[in-house]
Amino acid sequence: MPTTSLLIKNIHTLVLMDAQNQVLRGAYLYAENGEIRRVGSGTARLPKAGRVIDGRHFIALPGLVNTHHHLYQTLTRAYAPAADAKLFDWLRTLYPIWARLDEECAEVAALAGMAELLLSGCTTTSDHHYLFPRGRGHLIDAQIAAARRIGIRFHPTRGSMSVGPRQGGLPPDSVVQGEDQILQDCERLIGKYHDAAPGSMLRVALAPCSPFSVSPELMRASADLARRHGVRLHTHLAETRDEDAYCLSRFGKRPLDLLEEVGWLCGDTWLAHGIHFNRGEVNRLGRAGVGIAHCPSSNMRLGSGIAPVPALRRAGCPVGLGVDGSASNDSSHMLAEARQALLLQRVRYGAGALSVADALRMATVEGARCLGRDDIGSLEPGKRADVAMFDLRGAGYSGAGDAVSALLLCAPAQVDTLLVEGRVVVEGGALQTISLESILRRHRKLAAKLQSEPRSRC
Ligand code: ZN
Repeated sequence: MPTTSLLIKNIHTLVLMDAQNQVLRGAYLYAENGEIRRVGSGTARLPKAGRVIDGRHFIALPGLVNTHHHLYQTLTRAYAPAADAKLFDWLRTLYPIWARLDEECAEVAALAGMAELLLSGCTTTSDHHYLFPRGRGHLIDAQIAAARRIGIRFHPTRGSMSVGPRQGGLPPDSVVQGEDQILQDCERLIGKYHDAAPGSMLRVALAPCSPFSVSPELMRASADLARRHGVRLHTHLAETRDEDAYCLSRFGKRPLDLLEEVGWLCGDTWLAHGIHFNRGEVNRLGRAGVGIAHCPSSNMRLGSGIAPVPALRRAGCPVGLGVDGSASNDSSHMLAEARQALLLQRVRYGAGALSVADALRMATVEGARCLGRDDIGSLEPGKRADVAMFDLRGAGYSGAGDAVSALLLCAPAQVDTLLVEGRVVVEGGALQTISLESILRRHRKLAAKLQSEPRSRC
């Protein structure tokens, strides 16, 4: 394979996100075949490269890492009947609509959501897909096809729901599956797509929707299967007070105790939300090295609460950020999510609770740790060339004294240039891999159809 090389030179501000939190001015970054070979600043002789980008007006940082999402929900954004609901009511309102999803919906929703993520500076995204309406095809395969087409690094998680209303669960029968069928499909997806190699563009994880929407046996079997194949585990936990009450009344246990009992309190697990933990639980999570996908916008939108982010980080948990479902945010803008994290923690714990650098670490290198990756999240030799570049000449940044602070204190901007694995995926603010206009046209049409069909049909 011929070498492809890339040099970004004269970078106004380069945020390395390394262990020393170094920020370089007048810097350069050189990569070959998707891997960073050199970074630095000053008057060093620069290598020749096949592609050269002038970075004099840009702040460059590691591509942002999104650790929790439900891409299909882009089709039900701002759905009026669920606009003011809290989680359980919001779910009950939307399940019948989501029960009509098919492969085309999954693919187009993924393309639209991934486009939004890429344009916000995100180079790696996870997705938690747990809805598999009967006879509607292979929805995760459709998402994977979308990720390959658009050029984003992708961590799909095979979700599941097996406890319907007859067993006291929340989701309707039309979207729950048998547990053997779930495990078979998990194994199929791992075998077909999971790539553990450094620089991997696709890794699969297993993700029962929550410990109370599947049986404890399926939680255990998912953990066994994941460990047999060396893949990670993901689920929702401690999102609402209603969840505490539900688990206590149904199982006589708090959610974290339930999680521990099924063998999930381990370093290969990352949890979405993690709001309602007491002090002892935070310490147990930290000791185990469990990752947390903090989702501030969704938590505010649904009135779920504020995650104890400083305590979780102090305890030893990697805390990443998740834009969460596009119907509970209702956005996939990763830079905006980092800003929300910064502001929300300060509301609860004061101005010193979280620094700009902390919030950016969560959006990059800590998110990468949640996904089990040490090859992305920082810009250092040997890491992958995933780089987000924001143009400092934008109206929103005008007058800013410090470019790094401006990223989060000023209004969230869209990326100008984005590299994934050394490949230019966004240039001049425009996606280079797909026609955004035609995808959005299809997306609007599908969303209107889903939302308008009579609910009695599902
Ligand atoms: Zn979620």
